[in-house]
Parts: sequence; C-alpha cells; structure tokens
Amino acid sequence: MVYLDNNATTPVHPEVYAAMEPFLRDGFGNPSAPYGLGRKAREAVEMAREQVAALIGASPSEIVFTSGGTESIATALHSALSTFPERRRIVTTAVEHSATEKPCQHLERLGFAVDRIPVDTGGRLDLDALKSALDSSPPALVSTIWANNETGVISPIDAIAATLEDGQALWHSDAVQAVGKIPVRVDEVPVHLLSISGHKLHAPKGIGALFVRRQIRFHPLLLGGGQESNRRSGTENVPGIVALGRAASLAAEHASARVQALRDRFESVLIESVEGTAVNGDPGHRLPNTSNLVFPGLDAEALLILLDEMGVACSPGSACSTGARHPSPVLTAMGYHEAHAKSSLRFSFSSMNNDADVDEAIRAVTRAAAKVREVRRPDSGWVTQRP
Ligand code: PLP
Repeated sequence: MVYLDNNATTPVHPEVYAAMEPFLRDGFGNPSAPYGLGRKAREAVEMAREQVAALIGASPSEIVFTSGGTESIATALHSALSTFPERRRIVTTAVEHSATEKPCQHLERLGFAVDRIPVDTGGRLDLDALKSALDSSPPALVSTIWANNETGVISPIDAIAATLEDGQALWHSDAVQAVGKIPVRVDEVPVHLLSISGHKLHAPKGIGALFVRRQIRFHPLLLGGGQESNRRSGTENVPGIVALGRAASLAAEHASARVQALRDRFESVLIESVEGTAVNGDPGHRLPNTSNLVFPGLDAEALLILLDEMGVACSPGSACSTGARHPSPVLTAMGYHEAHAKSSLRFSFSSMNNDADVDEAIRAVTRAAAKVREVRRPDSGWVTQRP
C-alpha cells in the first residue's frame, strides 16, 4: 500500500517501537513507585522530557505529557480561562482544527465571545484583522494553528508574535502538524503554550505534550494524583512517553528536504498530466509534506474510493472529522465554494515514503481521474441512468 495520509496519522517508526517495547513488557513500573522498577520508569520519562524539550528549544521542566493534541489544546484553553476569569473572550483563526474549533463553539454556548480571524484564498491569516481584534480589550487567549492540517499552510508566526508584542494576552499555538516537519522553536518564538501530538511524528496514538512557558500561571485540566508536577494528573503513559521522546530525537535528524522533493515531484507531474489540477493553499508557505490538490469537476469521494482500491491512501479533508459528506471548513474559510472543496484531496507524505511510492501514486491518481472523468461524461450512460 502507498500510504499518503500522514497528516491523519503516521506509522510508528521501527526505532520508536523498539524504544517503547521494553516498557510494555518488563519495564511496566509506575514512575511514582519508590523502588527500582518505578525509578527506571521515572528515568525513562525524564529522558523523554529532555528529548521533546530539545526538539522545540524548551527546558525539560516546560514539557507536560498529555494524551495527545486534543487534550493539550483543551488544557491550554482551560488554563488561560482560569488565569483570566474576567476575560470572557478568545481570539483564534477561521482555520483551526476541530480540537480548537469545537471547544470554542462550546465556550460560545456558555456565553464567551470567540473572534475567528479570517484567511485569504491562499489560507494566509489576515494580520490587520488580528490587530483590530487585539485593539479592544485583551482576550484570555490567542490561539493560532502553526501549520494547517488540511492545506499545510504555515501561519505567519513572526508577524503574529509582533502583533502580540505588548504581552497582554496569553498565546497558544496548535503545532500538532508542524512539530517534526519544520523547525518549531519556543526559544525563538514567544508563544506561551504549544500543543504537540505523538502520532503525527511516528510515535503511537494517545500521547502528546503541552509546552508551558515557565513564567506563566498554569491551571491543570486534570486533577488527581499530582503527576507531571501537578500539571496533569493520571498515571503516566510510560511507553507512549518514551516513544514520543524517541520520535522527537528522530524528527530532529530527519531531512525534510527529501520529503519535500517527493511531494514536489508528485505535484508537478499531476499538475502536468491531470487537466486543471491545482494546489490549494499558498504554495510558498506550506509544510514540505502536504499536497492539497483540486481536480476541478471531479468528485473527490469517487477518486478516493478508486485510489483505495488501487492501494493508495489519502484524505478528502481532516481525518478527525466525522466522515460526513460536508465540504472542508478550512477550504470554505479560504473562500472556495462547495464544488471546489468536494473536488479536493489531501496527500501527505512522510520520511517513510520513497520514490517508488510517488511513481505508484502518480499512476493511480492519473488512472482514477480518467475513470471518474469518463463516468461523469453526459453520454457515458452512468450519469443518465441516475434518477
Ligand atoms: N490539531 C491538529 C492540527 C491536528 O491535525 C490534530 C489531529 O489531526 C489535532 C490537533 C488533534 O490531535 P490528536 O489526534 O493527538 O488529539
């Protein structure tokens, strides 16, 4: 199978698996236990904390392990709202993942105000709108996605930082898709909170981290046994944490240039060979692994089914949405009409793909596009037979 859905989830890297496996077997101790087995688990957790911190330029004490991106984001929102109970407003963007958007909708139902900063057709954030949103009273939190899961468009992080310079608001970034693919450095960007998810960088599902800058006040979402220095209660997922640590070290070694070369060849051949194919999202500011393509006039769902039959896995949008047939909210926010969104597919590569994958995927997409074009021709019978 050619797996090109790495923004949905990645395969566990063999070295990551090898690192975590002992902690699923003999190394099963509880890191809080006061004997050798527990101490070994504790040491492994602390080493992983150093590895994750090193990847993003944080101090190990600023890393809190969580169950994944969704929990990290929920924790960031909860902490900020608890820090500033009088500020009943969040500023975010129109192209967030549902892990941010859905909690924001919930907050709106509870009476909070949510400002969603719009983007243009390239998915680029409207910085003037962000500035105006911050000109009034400071919100409890500004939450901006670092790189979009559907289009791969990278937010203008330095410009956002400059806009937030007065330090009035806490700033969180959902860096779930960015960490491991492009440099994300909290020693260079003054973000206060930053969310990471293990399964997007070749660790397993169910492990993530929240960066919490040392200077800020923090309010945990999960209370209980006081693990993670009272910042996230619950017995630590030691194998997952070890896996995330190893994956972070591997990500630091990865050359994203190789992944980008695979993606670029895939795109340029398809743009040449499949009529009308175009890239969704600002091509100059994208993750090196993501290719969101529109095939005008072709039904993405039909393409996806044919590609699946041919052994190529890709995505019609965010894999975290329910699978219901509605146009991608991200492409809609970029101003595309429904038909455009329903003709778009996302292909996302990883360091575990190779040139042969690209060749096979190009062949499959070209054939699938020709097939779908054929059945939608008015004289093909297929269309006319439908009620
Ligand atoms: N944020 C973004 C941008 C994502 O792509 C995802 C997952 O697709 C999440 C958050 C949620 O992360 P997790 O699946 O680890 O909860």
